[in-house]
Order: sequence, then structure tokens, then C-alpha cells
Amino acid sequence: MMSSVRSPLGSGTILAAAFGLAALAGLAARPAAAEERAKDLFGAEKLPAATSAQSIGFYSKGCFAGGVAIPMDGPTWEVMRPSRNRRWGHPAMIALIEKLSRDAAADGWPGLLIGDISQPRGGPMISGHASHQIGLDADIWLTPMPGRPLSMAQRENMSATLMVDEKTHLVKDALWTPQHTNLLKRAASYPEVERILVNPGIKKKLCDTVKGDRSWLRKIRPFWGHDYHFHMRIGCQPGSPGCKAQEATPGDDGCGKPLAWWFTEQPWRPNKNPDAPKARDLMTMANLPRECRAVLDAPGPASVEAATYHGGAVPVAVAAPEPEALPTTTASGTAALPASMNAFTATPEVGVPVPRPRPPGN
Ligand SMILES: [Zn+2]
Repeated sequence: MMSSVRSPLGSGTILAAAFGLAALAGLAARPAAAEERAKDLFGAEKLPAATSAQSIGFYSKGCFAGGVAIPMDGPTWEVMRPSRNRRWGHPAMIALIEKLSRDAAADGWPGLLIGDISQPRGGPMISGHASHQIGLDADIWLTPMPGRPLSMAQRENMSATLMVDEKTHLVKDALWTPQHTNLLKRAASYPEVERILVNPGIKKKLCDTVKGDRSWLRKIRPFWGHDYHFHMRIGCQPGSPGCKAQEATPGDDGCGKPLAWWFTEQPWRPNKNPDAPKARDLMTMANLPRECRAVLDAPGPASVEAATYHGGAVPVAVAAPEPEALPTTTASGTAALPASMNAFTATPEVGVPVPRPRPPGN
């Protein structure tokens, strides 16, 4: 938005004026909207925005339109914690999860237990993740799908298996199998997948044991938590000009110095200020790309089923009332945040001690 303003009078003046007007106009139209917590607004949405698929903003600061749901069950997957209503994603993400479930089954992994993907219109969540906001992140359990179908109650309550020892940060050898390695390798094999977050202990296990082709280890990134699930992230998809790409991962296997850091005491120091509000608790609509307001206001499909992905064509357009076109400008119209909140700009990866995210089912 701002970069389109050009004037011989000096861009600073014009920018300030333009920004002030925009802010006033916004205030007049919706007195409180900019101050409402984005997580409350997005967390209340039950259905996606019925428009063409579009991710807007960054993984940890954005939203998406045209989302579809993965069916609660498939031949090779089951959705866990269904009451959270976080089985929504960009159609490319949902299609890829289904593909992974089939490919993994062919590799000998019985099927996927699927954790959180995104809320119907993305955005910050009431609890849990910092990212998962633009429909391009998904958590998949490291527990294989059991042989007998899980009831809805079991999906809500079944505990996950922690694969990593909390004290040593090493994988529990009695639990880790070659099938776990194969599952991660398969997920990393897709060109759409840019990175996969796992606990440092799992990264170390792979570094220590993978023989032959190790090129895929580049995509496997150590991070806090992620000891019972892995987090698969795909890149910005075509049709999303406002989607902000993440920096590419380094070209090496990541098994050297950056991994060694995780096995020092530094990343595990207790958080000095555990009660400090998280980014998601502070974000207002003014902190998100302005297009996210239109995503919230867009009409939804007729039903959840109408926006559920069953392979083939994306179902949303069928059910939608005439959708208002979403602006397709790039996501630049975000309000400035206090300097201390620069965690918004990217998901920290290495060297930034942030509290370990450990809500149940993160
Ligand atoms: Zn995740």
C-alpha cells in the first residue's frame, strides 16, 4: 500500500498523511475493530471464506481464504482433537497431506494421525501455535494410526507418545523405528515442503542414523516441542501474491554446529518471564495484513461438507454465494509493532531463546 504513494514533495510527508487518513477512515467505519484481538475473531470462525484459495501474510502473522477441510477420516488418516476445528488448510496443503498418507501407507506406515492444521480462516489461534496462520502448516503425529478406528472420544483424549527424553533431549531408542525415519523422509521428499520441524533429539537421531542420500535432512529443522508430532510446512502457493515466503533453509544437512547448540544448556534455560503475554495474545487486526479484514468479512460456504476436500477439484467455489473479490495487493499494509514484539516477523529458529511451547497437543 505505502510503496504505491509517490510524490515530489517527499514520500515521508505523503506517507504520514496517507497513513493517518487510512487510520481515521478505519476508526470511523469500525470503532473497535482494530483493537479487537485477532485470535478472538479468527478463533470464532466456523467456516472458511468462500473465495479462491489465497494465503495472506506470513506463517506466524496472517490468514487465508478459500480453505478446505480434510475429511475427519480417510482410508489412510484420522483427524485428532476434532473439537478444535483446526482441520482446515490451503487446498494444496490438504491434498498434500492426503498424498503423504497414501505414500506413507505404501512405505509401511499404517496411516496418519493428523493434528492441527489451521482454523477455517487461519489467523492467530486461541491457544497453541505461533504459526499455522496461513493454511500452509500441519502437525502430524509420530504415532501410527491404530488398526482399529478411533472413536471421536478417543481422538479427543488419546494421549500422544513422547518420542524424546525430557532430560537428555535424546530420542527414546525403544520407540524409534526405521518407519519413523521413512515417514519424515517421505514428507521431506515433496518439492512443496520447505521445512519440517522436529524436536532436536529427533533431528540428532536422523543425523546419526541416515545412510545414503542425506540431502533431505536439510529440510528437517530442530525446534522446541515437536516431540510427539512433526510439523510440515509448505511454501507459498500460486495465486497468493500476498503470501510472504520464509527464508530458504541452509544447503547443508544441518547436523553440525547449529544442532550442537541444542545440546547445550542455553536453549533450555527456564523462561525468566513465563507469564509474559504471547504474540498471539497481543495481536490485533491492525497487526495483520489489512486483507485479513476482508477474509473475516467474506461469506462462507453453505456447510462444512461443502468445503470439505474429496480429491479432484477444490469444492469451495461450488458452494459460495457470489464472493466479494479479495484485494490481491501484497501484504504490506500492516501496522507497526513495538520493537519488543519483533518475534512477529518470523518464527525464530536458532539462537533465540523463546519459551518452549507446550500446551497439550501443540
Ligand atoms: Zn505445528
